[in-house]
Amino acid sequence: MSALVTPDGSQLLIGGKLVPGGAGTFATVNPATEEVLGQAANGDAADMDAAIAAARTAFDAGSWSADPAFRARCLRQLRDSLRGHIEELREITIAEAGAPRMLTSGPQLEGPIGDLGYFAELAENYVWETDLGSAAPMGIKSGRTLRREPVGVVGAITPWNFPHQINFAKIGPALAAGATVVLKPAPDTPWCAALVGKVIAEETDIPAGVVNIVTSDDHGLGAQLVTDPRVDMISFTGSTQTGRGIMAGAAASLKKVFLELGGKSAFVVLDDANIAAASSYAAFSVCVHAGQGCALTTRLLVPRESYDEAVRAAAKAMSGIVPGDPGNAGTVCGPLISERQRARVEHYLDLARAEGGTVVTGGGRPEDAARGYFVQPTLITGLPNTSTVAQEEIFGPVLVVIPHDGDEDAIRIANESPYGLSGAVWGTDPDRIRRVVQGVRTGTLSVNGGVWYSADAPFGGYKQSGNGRELGVLGFEEYLEAKLIATAE
Ligand code: NAD
Repeated sequence: MSALVTPDGSQLLIGGKLVPGGAGTFATVNPATEEVLGQAANGDAADMDAAIAAARTAFDAGSWSADPAFRARCLRQLRDSLRGHIEELREITIAEAGAPRMLTSGPQLEGPIGDLGYFAELAENYVWETDLGSAAPMGIKSGRTLRREPVGVVGAITPWNFPHQINFAKIGPALAAGATVVLKPAPDTPWCAALVGKVIAEETDIPAGVVNIVTSDDHGLGAQLVTDPRVDMISFTGSTQTGRGIMAGAAASLKKVFLELGGKSAFVVLDDANIAAASSYAAFSVCVHAGQGCALTTRLLVPRESYDEAVRAAAKAMSGIVPGDPGNAGTVCGPLISERQRARVEHYLDLARAEGGTVVTGGGRPEDAARGYFVQPTLITGLPNTSTVAQEEIFGPVLVVIPHDGDEDAIRIANESPYGLSGAVWGTDPDRIRRVVQGVRTGTLSVNGGVWYSADAPFGGYKQSGNGRELGVLGFEEYLEAKLIATAE
C-alpha cells in the first residue's frame, strides 16, 4: 500500500485522475510546530473548470444518479478503504489540523468515516417515490406522484477545523442522493482532503467525475464554484462573513445554497443546577481542540447570585488544561490552526481588556511554548453580553461569563446574538428546562450534557448561523430536488 501523501506533494482528483495543480504547489504547515509538513497541489481556475465539467458529465451522462444500490456499495467501499489507511490518516490529521489525538477516534476521523455507512443505508432505504393519491383540481382527475431526484452537481466548500467530519458530512449524503461533487477544501488542510481523493481514485469503483477534489491556496476557486452555472448547489461550511458572500455570489445563477456558519452559543445554568459542576463542564468543553468548534458554548450564563462560584469553578477547570502537543494521547487543547487565527484570538483578548473585562485565567500564549500557534485557555468576566467578545465568534479557547437574573432573562441573553447555532441548558426542574429549551432559538441544544452530534441527527443553525441542516434524513434531503408528476386518470 503506497503512502497517501509524501512531502513532495499531494494531487488533485479531477475526472477520475490524480493530477498536479496548474498553479504548482503550496506548503501545508504543522500548527503545533510551525514546520512545513510538505507540499499540496495548488489548483488553478482551469483545474476548477475541468473539475466542474467532469462532475457535470458524470451527473448528466452516467448511470450514477439512477443507481442507489451501486452508490451504497461505493460508499461502503470508500469507508472500508479509508479504514485500511486509518493510522496514516490519523497522523496526517493530527499534524495538519492540529487535532488532538483523542478526537481522531471520534469526530475528527473515525466517526465520520464510519458514518459513510449511514449514508449507504439511506441510499438503499430512502423512499424515492410517494403516491399522493388522486385529486381533481380544476375538474381533471389526476393521480399524483412525488418523486425525489438528486440535485445535480454540488460544490462543497469546507473549513479546516474538523476537515474530515465536514468533508464527509457533505460528500456522504451528496453521493447517497446521487449527486456529483466538486470539493474545495480549506487551504489550511489540503492533505486531509487530497488523501481521500487518492483513496477514491485508486481503491474504489466510484466512477470518474463523481467526486473531484481541488486543493488550492486561492479562495477565489471557491468563488468560481459559487458563480459557475453548471453547479446546481453550493454546500458551504465556514464563517458567516464568507457565507454572506457565497449567498450573494450564487444569486446570479439562483442555485441552491446550503450554509453552516459561525456561532456564539450560550451555556445556560439555571439556579437549581449544580453550579460548580456545570461551570467546570462548560469551561472544559470550550478548550477542546483549542475552541475551534463552531457549536462550542462560548458564553456561560450563570445566576447572578452564583457568579463568583461559577467563575471559581470555571477558572479551576481552565487553568488545569495545558495546551500541548496534539499527538499526545492526553492532550485536549492543541494549537490554533495558523498564525493568522492566533493573531485574531489575541486581538479579541486585547479587546476584552480594552472594554473593561477581567482575564481571570489565561490571556495569552503559554510561556513554555516557543513554537506552535498555542493560546492559553482564557476566562473573561465583568463584561455584558453586548460587549464585542460576547457577540463575535472568537474561535479560540475563550469563555465569557455573564450573569442572568432568572430563566426568562437567561433566554433573553442567549437570544441576544446574531447567531443561533447551538447551546446548552443545565438544571433540575424538567418544566423549567423545557421552557428554556423552547425559548432559545438555536438549531441544537444539549440538556445536562446530552450529545446531539450523530450521523442520524440534523445539525445546523437559526439566524446568521446558516440555513438548512447537515446530517440525518434532513441533511440528506438537502441534496434532493422534488418532482411532482400528475397523470390524468
Ligand atoms: P472561511 O469562511 O474563511 O473559509 C471556509 C472555506 O471557504 C474555505 O475553503 C475557503 O477557501 C472558502 N472561501 C473563502 N472565501 C471564499 C469566497 N469568497 N467564496 C467561496 N469560498 C470561499 O472559514 P474558516 O476560517 O476556514 O473556518 C472557520 C469558520 O467556519 C468559523 O466561523 C466557524 O464557526 C465556521 N464553521 C462552521 C461550522 C458549522 O457547521 N456551522 C462548522 C465548522 C466551522
